[in-house]
Amino acid sequence: MESFSSPSDEALLDDEAAGGPTFLDRLFDHGLLIRTGVDGLYGRSGAFESVVDALDRLITRLGAADGAEVMRFPPGMSRPAFERSGYLKGFPNLAGTVHSFCGDSAGHAEILACVEAGRDWTGQQEASDIVLTPAACYPLYPVAAARGALPAEGRLFDLQSYCFRREPSLEPTRMQLFRMREYVRMGSPEQVLAFRESWLERGTAMMRDLGLPLAIDVANDPFFGRAGRMLANNQREQGLKFELNVPVNSVEKPTACLSFNYHQDHFGSTWELRQADGGVAHTACVGFGLERITLALLRHHGLDLAAWPAAVRTALWG
Ligand code: ATP
Ligand code: ZN
Ligand code: MG
Repeated sequence: MESFSSPSDEALLDDEAAGGPTFLDRLFDHGLLIRTGVDGLYGRSGAFESVVDALDRLITRLGAADGAEVMRFPPGMSRPAFERSGYLKGFPNLAGTVHSFCGDSAGHAEILACVEAGRDWTGQQEASDIVLTPAACYPLYPVAAARGALPAEGRLFDLQSYCFRREPSLEPTRMQLFRMREYVRMGSPEQVLAFRESWLERGTAMMRDLGLPLAIDVANDPFFGRAGRMLANNQREQGLKFELNVPVNSVEKPTACLSFNYHQDHFGSTWELRQADGGVAHTACVGFGLERITLALLRHHGLDLAAWPAAVRTALWG
């Protein structure tokens, strides 16, 4: 839809092309991200968090007139709910489960002996009833369905959660634990499509106001395996998922910072969620990757927040 021609594109390319430190190295050097020894698992500085907080508030302001119901869930969800959600059909490779020790003193001694000897100790761990939340909206559907049929105007929710995906990477934009802000709409196909349309516009305006070059593209989720290829093609052909992409790691492979997803009746049927007229509810969500947008800002405006363009600082901090 739009090209990436912006003066910052060149800045994007020089350092690494010149054999200099990578973007990730520079984020570490400036203390914006903090190493843990695991790819995709980072601490964040106060400066980094000040941007995340400002984005969170900005996204709240953009949606304020709609009166979304705010809900916050912890970064883990019920394992039975997770199983029923269908996540394992599409993304078994990304899921993370919480395991814990349920043994006795002999088991404890075995753990300590393993650790001491540098052997694997995790055989003592058993799956618990908690899995890590893969997307902010997953814990919501069973809760919404438990309330009964939707009112005629449908429902709208405001969510934020740490999400886990087992996709270790050296690209700073691909973390294993990251925060996703979401608005989720439930109702008739017309209601949820109108919601998605309005957020395509609002999200684009927001990112332009933040001085970021962007393009909206049709996208697909990375469904696992051979059967997944068909699901992905189908999703694209039907235009169910759009992404707002910004060049962050490279110009050729821009990064999805926002996504706009129409689930049709997938979650409605899975959770037996009904519209007021008895029809199966349709759902859609818009997801904002808080770390990804922050990294896009750092990439395009520099690692020193005080030196960011005045218009960008005003958009974030007033
Ligand atoms: P990608 O295609 O880059 O893997 P995605 O399609 O998996 O992204 P969604 O599932 O739509 O992304 O998640 C919603 C938003 O969460 C994305 O638009 C992005 O901003 C953010 N996000 C997704 N995966 C990650 C990750 N591994 N690290 C940081 N942010 C992420
Ligand atoms: Zn969602
Ligand atoms: Mg992904």
